[in-house]
Amino acid sequence: MQVGYRFRCYPTPDQQAILLRWIGCQRFIYNAKVGEDRYYRVFQRKTLALAGEHAPIDQEYARFKCRELTPWLYEVPSQILRNGAVRWKTAYSRFFQRLGGRPTIQRKSGPQSVWLTNELFSFEAAGGATPEEVSYRLSIGKGKFPVGVIPYTAHRPHKIPASITLTVDAGHWYVSFNIDDDLPLPTPQEIAAELASWPETELRASAVGVDRGVTVPVFASTGMCAGLSDVQQQRLRKKERARKRWQRRMARRVKGSSGQRKAAHRVARCHQYARSVRLDFAHQTSYRLVESAGVRLLVFEALRVKAMSARPKAKQNETGQWLKNQASAKAGLNSKILASAWGKTLVFAQYKALRRNKLVVTVPPHYSSQECSRCGHTHPENRPTQAEFVCQGCGFRTNADHNASRVIRDRGVALVRSGEFSPVGRKKTMRMRTKVGAGCSEPEPIQAPTPGETSVRRQAVSRKAQKSVNPETPATSRRL
Ligand SMILES: [Zn+2]
Repeated sequence: MQVGYRFRCYPTPDQQAILLRWIGCQRFIYNAKVGEDRYYRVFQRKTLALAGEHAPIDQEYARFKCRELTPWLYEVPSQILRNGAVRWKTAYSRFFQRLGGRPTIQRKSGPQSVWLTNELFSFEAAGGATPEEVSYRLSIGKGKFPVGVIPYTAHRPHKIPASITLTVDAGHWYVSFNIDDDLPLPTPQEIAAELASWPETELRASAVGVDRGVTVPVFASTGMCAGLSDVQQQRLRKKERARKRWQRRMARRVKGSSGQRKAAHRVARCHQYARSVRLDFAHQTSYRLVESAGVRLLVFEALRVKAMSARPKAKQNETGQWLKNQASAKAGLNSKILASAWGKTLVFAQYKALRRNKLVVTVPPHYSSQECSRCGHTHPENRPTQAEFVCQGCGFRTNADHNASRVIRDRGVALVRSGEFSPVGRKKTMRMRTKVGAGCSEPEPIQAPTPGETSVRRQAVSRKAQKSVNPETPATSRRL
């Protein structure tokens, strides 16, 4: 199985200057490839003579290197530039597999990274008695382009990777890589098939339902409940106030000035803090869930976090006057939803469970807060208050989150025993075609492309696409 590692590292200011130049040059090549590809595609769409021609999807970059126009590209190792082109090609093949969009321009702001292959770094053993405890010294650079030793904190032992990525995010540097440890990982189907044959009582005893909410972020049917500590919440509020303050200052400062850049850095730091707290919470909570004694099955609700935390629609009355839609109240709820790290807790639990030969399933969340976990009676009045659950059918009385987590657990048990469990696959994206001419647009036909090439042939609109095209709706609001 592939195991990812990410460690903080601490380059000196001089080393940072060199690495930032490497980052910039790799981004330049990537963006040059993106720009070239866009040029090819637009040009070929407009020229009938070129219909059916293919834009090259390769990793050549020599044509972007020029002594007169781009002399700075000669100041970095050529592998940096090649890796920029390889990154672009990898992104393009992900697009072909429908795992992401077409590569786009990488911005100069935000987190930045450079991908180094093993010509440009080395890990030298530096102490450690047993093979598991060996610590390494990471040195970067080669012959003409030395950078030196960069200290990093390896909080767990690791092997030597074939390539690493150096990332800078709001002034913090990280080294990350992944290693295949050759250990076989069970598939979710295998575990599900094993669990499906268990007797129901036994399976229920080793299953945990997890209710995710806003008041209590995570509540398990074992009684475990997890949320941010008071200190964390207090610090988050403080950081949030600071972020607003710095954001206001940033907006007032002269665009492109060093003052604005500094303010932007402070804003980024505040965001980074909140993100770290969320990640820490999600990792610790998912670890506690999968490590619970005797647990083989974890059941989560399939929450559509993105839709749940969307902005409310704008409201109008008959005369076209805009009405209040409680957007700011929803915004407060949204920030709470996102702060409870629902999505991350589930994603982390999934991979952590697989490594321990356990299974995570998701079940539909409908009415889980109103259904009685003892008799199955479902009614809104079962929930007189936010915290309390009193069944109108059988009189069962308990904590509302506890009841919901038991309902979720039983749904998961039923799902696994029915044998209808199918793991969530990798999300595929739809391919959209941007506007071709004024007022007309056509969807890109989805078909298997030849590896390494993209067809830019102009295709007739398929019948299915034609049906869904309404000429009155603008192209941007249409989703296929
Ligand atoms: Zn009941």
